Parts: sequence; structure tokens; C-alpha cells
Amino acid sequence: MVVANQVLERGGRVLVLDKASFCGGNSAKATAGISFPKSQEDATGSFRNDMAAAGGSSAALSEILGRNSLPDMSWLIDKFDLNFAVVAKHAGHSHPRTYRNGDGMPGMTITYALIQRIEKVAEVSDRARIVTKAEVSRLLHRAGNVVGCEYQKFGRSSKEYGPVILCTGGFAAVGPGSLLAQFRPDLLKRPTASAEHCTGDALKLGQEVGAKTLDLEWVQLHPTGLIHLDEPDAPRKAVAGEMFRLAGALLLDASGERFCNELGPADHIIEAMATRPAPFWLCLNTAASRELQRQCRAFTRRRLMKCYSSGRELAEEMRIPVQKLVEVHDAHAEAFRRTLRDAGSKERPSAASTASTAEAPAEGPWMGLDGRHSYDEVSGKLGFGKCDFKNVLVGSRVPDETFHAAQVTPVILYCSGGLGISAQAEVLRQDGSPIPGLFAAGECTGGVHGKLALPGNSLLDCLVFGRLAAKSACRYIFGEDDEFRPCPIPHEGPAGTFEKAAGHRRPAMASFDQPESYELVLDDAAPRQDLGAVWMQARQQQTYMSLHPNLPGAAVWHLLGGNHCRSAFAAPAKDILHADLIVEPFDSEEILESSANTLGKKVSFKDESLLAFASTRPSPTEPNTQVLKRESVKVSYLLVQQAAKLRRARKRLAAFLIKNGFSPDDVNKMKTRYLGLSRTFALHEAAKQDDALMVRLLLYFGADCSNKDSSGRTAYDYVKAKPADEEVRRLLEKYGRQQSAWHRSRCKSTAIESADDVGSSI
Ligand SMILES: Cc1cc2nc3c(=O)[nH]c(=O)nc-3n(C[C@H](O)[C@H](O)[C@H](O)COP(=O)(O)OP(=O)(O)OC[C@H]3O[C@@H](n4cnc5c(N)ncnc54)[C@H](O)[C@@H]3O)c2cc1C
Repeated sequence: MVVANQVLERGGRVLVLDKASFCGGNSAKATAGISFPKSQEDATGSFRNDMAAAGGSSAALSEILGRNSLPDMSWLIDKFDLNFAVVAKHAGHSHPRTYRNGDGMPGMTITYALIQRIEKVAEVSDRARIVTKAEVSRLLHRAGNVVGCEYQKFGRSSKEYGPVILCTGGFAAVGPGSLLAQFRPDLLKRPTASAEHCTGDALKLGQEVGAKTLDLEWVQLHPTGLIHLDEPDAPRKAVAGEMFRLAGALLLDASGERFCNELGPADHIIEAMATRPAPFWLCLNTAASRELQRQCRAFTRRRLMKCYSSGRELAEEMRIPVQKLVEVHDAHAEAFRRTLRDAGSKERPSAASTASTAEAPAEGPWMGLDGRHSYDEVSGKLGFGKCDFKNVLVGSRVPDETFHAAQVTPVILYCSGGLGISAQAEVLRQDGSPIPGLFAAGECTGGVHGKLALPGNSLLDCLVFGRLAAKSACRYIFGEDDEFRPCPIPHEGPAGTFEKAAGHRRPAMASFDQPESYELVLDDAAPRQDLGAVWMQARQQQTYMSLHPNLPGAAVWHLLGGNHCRSAFAAPAKDILHADLIVEPFDSEEILESSANTLGKKVSFKDESLLAFASTRPSPTEPNTQVLKRESVKVSYLLVQQAAKLRRARKRLAAFLIKNGFSPDDVNKMKTRYLGLSRTFALHEAAKQDDALMVRLLLYFGADCSNKDSSGRTAYDYVKAKPADEEVRRLLEKYGRQQSAWHRSRCKSTAIESADDVGSSI
């Protein structure tokens, strides 16, 4: 989403394709926050040193991460009005520099702010589009240049043209045949914190066009994945972020012993866990849970955590004597007391109260983190002794103290490796040269963090390299001189070079999604597919015409002319009129209109002379092109009429969607409120409003009758009590039933037989 916003800011047009039903990815799950250095000196000094110590990252990429982080964070905060009020020192960082907002959901806050901006632009213009449930399956390439991508939605394949920026996240979704199975088979039995989209698609797509990958074996785990009380073996788990341990939570093993520095690096904690008896418990005393009240309540509601009214109750559940808990807390409090003494603080943990914090240069007998010494024997013996404490509880209070506790286990969190990228976020080939037209950012890239990303640095990576990738893609289109040019045209110049767009300034609404090259190869055997491709080709003419205003009729010619297109028009008329096949029909209509103007003839659509003219006029650029048959022209004229009807339908539907707070981009996109607790769909809304026309249109444009709202009801459930002859009920009954067949046969428009069925009331 950083990429999309940055492209818009640079004057480009952007299409966001997301295979999930909502664009949020793992980014929305981040709870620790986003890290950035506190000053430019920190950026180039200790921040980089911390990164190098943790993961041994590529010097060039980590330098960029540090150098760009401050300006990029200012961009994020200023442009999206974000507020990161809380800062914490997470393991591996030598200073507190991981920021989050007060509500403890920094990933969601950042991601939603970015998405909302794109959605707003998409509502009012065509500069941005978001298509969800659209899985990119292939990169389109020509002579070594990436010129677009192909994606699948509802079983239908579509192509889009322009530079491609891959941001598909990591590959931490477990399963046989996954990249994880290939590179880290030892982790296959581990649960994962990643959503199911994390299948490493960018890596597969990139490798198909010769991209190099690196460090794929570096997969990071998180020590505190939460075990669900009812589904302990679920392969996907939520995570209790480090903030729980920062607030003072203790980690205990099955015998109730502490076994590590809770604030130590994740890999140390996980190593220690491997030597101790499971299950492991994350225990928050009253003060600690009060600090994270919202999160504790949410986890308790989801049965990932439990509230115990006393230490006795907790001990009983852990099957250990309460005295064990008392002793463990006392030993911990003692280490804290000594650390305070070193700091010369007056604060003492007493029997009557819990003490709050100590971040002092402890001088204890054990080696601590950051070059300090620790008094905590448990963690000190392992070489990473605890020196920082918060909300410490003395043993005597344990039996009557309220606790929040959860069983935890290490889960797969993050993939450090990925596609090799340059300092400009260009995807690199095996030989280190960039693949023109292909960029990448975020978790799908490798080399930024080395083998281990510090907490909060992965979101920073998305921000910094996301902006860089967007800027590079825009430069690829607009050039250093900021002049618009189409994607490279391999047959007009050596691979990887640009055509010099002499004399053409960037159009007000610059577009990068249409190449000038006519790379569509239509398949005579598949006329339905052909037609879609013809209209796709039509869309490309907009760019062509803007760049070649002196070639009259070129657009019309390419729209209707050419051997391949002819085979498409030879398809039976009923197939051609299948509205499903009309790709962006309105663009095509505009093209015809503008072509007419280019020709200097005042013609209306009803005037067939334009089409006849196009059919008989040889193309100035392709003199060998055969002349179209007149019948084909008529068929295309019908298509234009059809397009006008659909255009009106679409406008009415868009108005309905916007008025009711839905995105006009996708009729199946749900509207959520109250942090996702309330969810509904446009079809439900139209059914509730008894709006038969909108129900009809929604069905026509692909609304899924099986969608259920937050109360578990389909749209039909809201109208089934109505009389049988009521139109809304009739429609949902009839098409709802047909729709499953439609989904199976992968053909959207069987839901309503023809466009006339929809358009009759428009
Ligand atoms: C539970 C959890 C907590 C975390 N907490 C933090 C934290 O506090 N701080 C931090 O810095 N990092 C954190 N991380 C790591 C961080 O969230 C991720 O590294 C980061 O969000 C990755 O962002 P991304 O944009 O690369 O991928 P994602 O945010 O995962 O987005 C990838 C998107 O690509 C889409 N996609 C994938 N394949 C395709 C395809 N073929 N076609 C179309 N779309 C596709 C997906 O549907 C998804 O929407 C956490 C990770 C997890 C799992």
C-alpha cells in the first residue's frame, strides 16, 4: 500500500491486485510496531550496527534502510496523519526505537490508513484501482523486460500491462509442496503466525523470469504463539507480541520454572525452550495485564488466554504447587531489587505492592545484554541475563494476585530471504543485473536484514523499499526527465532501453498500464477469450493515440483490424454479446469517440460510416493488414451499444455502493465496522433495502450469494420471509441457486442470462 500511494503521489496510475479478499496481509497483524532510528546519527551509527550484529545484513541495503528511515517515517506520519505515541526498546535494539500507537495495533492502523487513501482515490477517479481475490499467476515479459502480469479472478484470467512491483509477503505458510518444505523442512510441523497468503508467490513469479533469490533458509520464529484452548493443534496461531514481555510477563515451563531472559532475542528464548519441558506459560500479573488491558481482553474473548482470579487457581491449572510460583517470583524480584540498588533508585518492590520499572546499568555476576551485567541467575547462566524489569511482583502476593496467562509455543513468523534486489528495489537476475520493469519490496525480498530482522524493522523495510520501488517504477515510465513514455517496446529498440518520447509531456493522468507493443496473440480456438483480448487491445490504443496523434484512425484500425481480431469477430454473435467478455467496455467506447475526433469527422456511434471507414482504410503502420469484413463491423457496433447500457448500469451501481459505504471496486468487498466485529456486504444491504434493481445489478456484476455477514446470514436469509412473488426474494432464490453452478463452471454471467435482463430497467 506504501507502493500504491507513492505511485499516485508521483503522478502514476496504479492497480493493486490482492489474492485475499481484503488488502491487509501480515502487515495488519503487526503489534510490536515500526522501528526507526531516533536521529540521523543513530541511523548511520548504532541502528546499522544493531542490524549487522543481529543478522549480518547486506551493507548496501541496510545502509539505505537506515538512511531513508527518517524521511520516510516523516512522510508516513505527515501524509497519513498517524500518531506513534508509545516507544519501546525491543530485543536487539540498543535504544528504544520501536514505535506504536496507543491502541496497540500499529500494523492495522498504518495499513488501513494507506488502504483508505487508495480507496478514496479509486472512488473518485480511475487513477487507482483495487482488485481483491485476484491472484497474480504469471509475469508477462518480452525480450527480457517485464511488461505486465496475468491474474486469475473467479477462475477467469486477465492481463494488465505496466511495470510490476511485487509485494506478496513471505512464504511462511506451512504445507507440503510449499517453499518452506523445500528450504526449511525441519519447520514443517511448526505452527505459523502467517496468514495463508504467504506462499512465496513473488519468488515463484520472479524465478520464472530469471530472478535470483537469496537466504531462503533464514526463517524467523516467534517464541510466544498462543495455543487456543479448544484447538491446541491448529496450524495457524496468533502471537502475543514482545510487548507482553516488555510489560512484565514471565515465561514459565511446565514445572513452573523461569528459564530465560523474557526480554532477550527471540532465538535465544526459543533455544532455551528447546531444552525445557512443555507446555510453556506466559503469565501476566495484575499490573502487567492492566497495561495491556485491551489485548488481554481480546485474547481472553478469543480463548487464547485465560484470566485466573488468583495465583492458586493458576498453579492448579499448571499442575504445580502454588509455592513454586511464589519462589519463582521472589527470585525474580530479588534480581530486580539488586538492579535497582545499582541504579541508586529509591523504588523497592515490597510485600504490599508491585514495583514498576528498572532499566539500570546492573553490575551483577552474570553477563547481561548490551554489555551490562545481570543479577538474574536464571537467564544470566545462559549468557543473556535480564537487566530490565517492569511490573515486578513479589512472591508473597502471588497466591491472591489476579493473573492473565496463556500457553505458548514457538511459531514461524518471518522470512528474511527472498528476491535479490538492487538499491533501487529493482529485482535482480542471477548475474546481478536488474530485470527491466520488475521491482519488489517487503518480505518477499532478501538481503535487507540478513538472517534476522530486528523487531519493527520489517514494517520499516516495507516503507523504505516500498517507496523506493514505487519511485523506481515511476522513473521507469517517466524517465529522469519526467517525460512520459510507455513501457519499453522491445521491437523498437534494444532490450531494456526506452523509446525516446520526444515532445510528449506527461499526460495529466499519466498511465503506466498500457504498453504500446501489441503482444496479444489471440487464439482462434478460443473466441471468447479473443474478444476479451480485443478489448484489452483497444484499451492500449489510448496510449497509442496520445503518443501518435498524427496517425489518423490508428486506434480504430487497431481496435477493429488485424488478423487476430478478425478471428474473434467471427465468433457467433451470442458469444460476442456475452457481457462477461467485454473488458472495460467503456474505455472502448471512449476510444471510438476519440478516434472519430482524430479523424476530423463529426460522427456519432449510430453512424456506421466511421466503422466502415476504419474497415476499408489500410493502416498506415501495418500496410499488410487485411481489410475487415463488413459483418464484423456490425457486430462490433452492437458491442458498443451493449457497452453503453452496461456503463449506465455500472454508474447506478457505483452510486449505490458509495452511498452505502461500500467500495465500488469490488461488489464482494465487505464493509467492516467496530474493528471488524460487524461485517456486511452490498448484496445484504440491497436485500434489506428491498432494492430489486440493485440486487439484480449486484448479481450481474458478480456478487456472491453465499457471502455471510457477521451474524452468519446470507442476503437471502433477510428476504426469505417475504411473499414468494416479491422480486428481491425471487431474484435471490433463483440466481442464488444458479450461482454455485456458475462458480463451478467459472462463468459469471450464467447468473443472469443476458445483459438485457439487467439493463431493462436502466
Ligand atoms: C503475527 C505477526 C506479527 C508481526 N509483527 C510485526 C511488528 O510488530 N513489526 C514489524 O516490523 N513486523 C512485524 N511482522 C512482520 C511484518 O508484518 C511483515 O514482514 C510485513 O507485514 C510484510 O509486509 P508485505 O507487504 O511484504 O506482505 P504482507 O503484508 O503479508 O502482504 C502481502 C499481500 O500480498 C498478497 N498476495 C500474495 N500473493 C499474491 C498473488 N499471487 N497475487 C495477488 N496478491 C498476492 C497477499 O494477499 C497480501 O495481501 C509480523 C508478522 C506477523 C505474522
